[in-house]
Amino acid sequence: MTTSANWQVTDDDREVIGRELSGFVPDRVFDAHAHLHRAEWWASPPPIVVTGPFEAGLQTYREHLGRLLPGRELHALHMAYPFAGADEATLAAANAWVASQAAQDPLGACLMVVPPNDDPDQVRETGRSLGVRGLKPYHLYAALERTWDAAIPDYLPESLMAVADAEEWVVVLHLVRPRGIADPLNQHWVRRYCERYPRARLVLAHCARGFNPYHVLEGLPPLADLPNLWVDTSAVCNAMGVLAALQIMGTGRVLYGSDFCVSQIRGTAFSVADTFLWLDEEHAPDAPAHAADFALPLVGVENLRAVRAAARLAKLNDGDVGALFWGNAARLLDLAPGS
Ligand SMILES: [Zn+2]
Repeated sequence: MTTSANWQVTDDDREVIGRELSGFVPDRVFDAHAHLHRAEWWASPPPIVVTGPFEAGLQTYREHLGRLLPGRELHALHMAYPFAGADEATLAAANAWVASQAAQDPLGACLMVVPPNDDPDQVRETGRSLGVRGLKPYHLYAALERTWDAAIPDYLPESLMAVADAEEWVVVLHLVRPRGIADPLNQHWVRRYCERYPRARLVLAHCARGFNPYHVLEGLPPLADLPNLWVDTSAVCNAMGVLAALQIMGTGRVLYGSDFCVSQIRGTAFSVADTFLWLDEEHAPDAPAHAADFALPLVGVENLRAVRAAARLAKLNDGDVGALFWGNAARLLDLAPGS
């Protein structure tokens, strides 16, 4: 394997962070979408895992994300990095390990990764015993050949949503299907789940999978009236996706999230036609003639630049920015006032 600049923070990164982000990101940050992992969970780990530390727990998270957010007080809602093909025992151990990591931070919280076929009573009992604040379903666990086409109940069955409702849990959902939130079937299930399970809080990750902002502009407005629907900004590298989320949902239900360790990938995502593309070290064009020293950015830095640009265009005041980086997550998770 060639050397990788994943996980590395260069002088060029630090220059951008200093110039663009140091005056923007508040002193304390509650990151509403932060994965942790151990490389042993995968039979064949993805490049971001292979190129990084074997174990990415709370200390690794603070160390590495702290390089993107220097000097900030950092707390997070943690969840295991979802991995395909896991046996039950590995997944159970992963959830328990993430809970033990989150518990080392008095303000930390965690979610439990749940496959759709998990027994709801067992999920409730395990979740209670681990002290989780909710669930992290993922399309990879849907019993389909092409999970990118999964409907929400294929990976988040109603029975688990009912548990989230009874426990007043948070559910962080990464939508799939080609048009994301603009897909009528996704809209149908988001509305039905939010209305039928009003004590659960449904967070649509990545600005409602706003890697293509036109999907957000088209698909999120009909759902903005749902009081228990939230979005997080994690890994979105286009400002319009974040701006659309802020303007459609209002400033009170948008959460900053890093998507650590995706934040440490060299790459970016952008909108193309009616979909989006990801660039990374394995899929990157040559440096263009007009920028011969071009190097792929860190996803986490590109995301923060997009969040800042969106905040400026939406004319957010300091209070709004504080809510985006802290107050909204504190409300979502019922953190004690003043914490
Ligand atoms: Zn994620």
